[in-house]
Amino acid sequence: MSWLTDDDDEDDFGFDEADIRMRPNPKANRPRTKRRPAHADASIARVLGVDRGRYQVLLDEDTPEEHDVVATRARELRKQPIVTGDRVRVVGDVSGDTGTLARMVSIEERRTLLRRSADDTDQVERVVVANADQMLVVVAAADPEPRARLVDRYLVAALDAGIRPLLVVTKTDLADPADFLAHFEGIDIEVFTSARGEMPLERIGASLVGRSTVFVGHSGVGKSTLVNALVPTAGRATGHVNDVTGRGRHTSSSTVSLRYRGEGGSGWVIDTPGVRSFGLGHVDPANILRAYTDLALIAEDCPRGCTHLPDAPDCAIAEAVADGRLGPSGAARFDSLQRLLTTFAGGR
Ligand code: GDP
Ligand code: ZN
Repeated sequence: MSWLTDDDDEDDFGFDEADIRMRPNPKANRPRTKRRPAHADASIARVLGVDRGRYQVLLDEDTPEEHDVVATRARELRKQPIVTGDRVRVVGDVSGDTGTLARMVSIEERRTLLRRSADDTDQVERVVVANADQMLVVVAAADPEPRARLVDRYLVAALDAGIRPLLVVTKTDLADPADFLAHFEGIDIEVFTSARGEMPLERIGASLVGRSTVFVGHSGVGKSTLVNALVPTAGRATGHVNDVTGRGRHTSSSTVSLRYRGEGGSGWVIDTPGVRSFGLGHVDPANILRAYTDLALIAEDCPRGCTHLPDAPDCAIAEAVADGRLGPSGAARFDSLQRLLTTFAGGR
């Protein structure tokens, strides 16, 4: 495997993401879920989490009747992945009373679908989270050292899914993040910095309102500390580092949905376990280019099949950068595009 991971000893995503055994359709940036015959009596619910085939779903969201229900999937949905963030129709006993079990009979169409492959050469994809609007990437200024390439992988996955990326650099009390952040010049990404005792909770919180945000980051970067500060009831375990291996360890091994409640309203925080790997075998490079609107427009004049990489002949973007048409930030933007494209191409 040629792609970068921190310690690819195991797949930390566990059982709560679903395999899709299919070849990706290059145009299927937002896969459509198959519609099932309507159940007139079905209620719409939000999938909060999955644990060994049992789904925790939320009914009557944002009403006084809001409550959790445990549900299983109906037989006809057995082959379809259902993940955190999915909107599903449930029937049966939806009281949520102890010992009751509701049944999910259909999945609503997804707005976005965050996916990963086992590795970059693997086109079998796994579904991580449905309907996320944003991906908040948490990285530490030090301890562990930040690595731009790892962040690139998250960015590519987010851009491919049509999800807006945000970046939080924690532990700026330990190191100055300026050099690291210079890597992301030209990428349209909102950046927050956070230090012990000085977390920008209001600013980050404001960007969570009205949205569903999936938090990702390697273990040890302070993601749980941040989640607990934003959602005081979250109770995510922090600081679990294995003394023998020195590796961070999450006691929580599955993806969970948490409600952020701030001054401006509420939003959903979807916390994922420390992601050790983010295979990009399923990514369509065109989706990366699409994130750079102005460059994508110019790329229409590129030779057919242009990779836009430094060795590409007659690349229209390279020409536009060379003659200054893209303005002072053009070169930086092209640079970051090439870096993301290389990240992707590197695994091929
Ligand atoms: P996670 O594995 O990403 O969830 O990381 P944790 O939230 O468990 O944090 C790992 C360690 O980093 C803990 O000991 C935290 O107290 C510490 N930590 C978190 N944020 C900061 C920070 O801004 N500055 C410093 N110096 N330490 C931090
Ligand atoms: Zn080109």
